[in-house]
Amino acid sequence: MHCDTVERMWSLQQEGKDISLITNNLHADMERMKASDYGLQNFAVWVDCGKYADPMETYRQMVQLFRRKISECGKYIAPVKSYRELEQVEKAGRICAMLTVEDGGIMGKDLDQLDALYEDGVRMMSLTWNYNNSLGTAAAKMGAGDRGLTKLGRECVTRMEDLSMIVDVAHLSDRGIADVLEVARKPFVASHSNARALCPMPRNLPDELLRSMGEHDCVIGLNFFVPFLLPALPWMAKKRLPLEKCYTKEKIMEAVVQHAKYIMDIAGSEHVGLGSDFDGIDRNPALPGCEAMPQLYDAMRRGGLAPSQIDGIFYRNVKRIYRDLL
Ligand SMILES: [Zn+2]
Repeated sequence: MHCDTVERMWSLQQEGKDISLITNNLHADMERMKASDYGLQNFAVWVDCGKYADPMETYRQMVQLFRRKISECGKYIAPVKSYRELEQVEKAGRICAMLTVEDGGIMGKDLDQLDALYEDGVRMMSLTWNYNNSLGTAAAKMGAGDRGLTKLGRECVTRMEDLSMIVDVAHLSDRGIADVLEVARKPFVASHSNARALCPMPRNLPDELLRSMGEHDCVIGLNFFVPFLLPALPWMAKKRLPLEKCYTKEKIMEAVVQHAKYIMDIAGSEHVGLGSDFDGIDRNPALPGCEAMPQLYDAMRRGGLAPSQIDGIFYRNVKRIYRDLL
């Protein structure tokens, strides 16, 4: 449900490098997605609103790049804007590419921009990234000042639902997600978030939200960022080692399976999907890129999950949301 490959390619383009989407050194490319039997990838346009003066202009440049890159890979992949198109592309044996936005803050206070985003093919949008914005408080800024969703944020949820654009609460504060649960008439997603009970990070979801999101028929996409999978170790700061060097590959893979099982226990087995966050995170040694999906499948089997449960996580649960909402 989430990757930042477009933003990576756009940033490299700013440095004069034209990166191929067919084969590259990033976390995701067509050759490896094909080998991994991908059905669909959401491609997020993530604009760092703290960095760019005119986020909507940067957004437009990234959308343009997305379109060009996808059309260069027409043999492998095609953009989809509806469930019907998803079925057609799937039937033709190609991978589906869905355009999404990370950080609704790119719109500033102008919710009319939602129509333009929809027109561009955006079918999912996170309300925040790591900054507070006109829509709500970010998980990264949580604390006493957590004001949840703003009035505009509530309006945004309703307008997105009216447009059939999927609301994404990844990066939103706890109170913000509780507010979305109150406002939303339709299911929504946390496209790349894990369980806080297993790894105490603000970006991960506490049990009560996992439970309510399950009851609301939402889907939570597993995030492969090692610091969101495993807790930091007491001696790490002293040794100045990145977390992914402190745990073995086996331990890291096991942690992904543990998060899946935990979220299934709390939210329900129909409510877990894959988020990955490829090209938005430091390389996970156990899951270095989209080529590693078969290894994740095997790890889930070893972890005691039944093939039908793993199929739910790998595609069925997310597909259900797309069928119902798109
Ligand atoms: Zn993110």
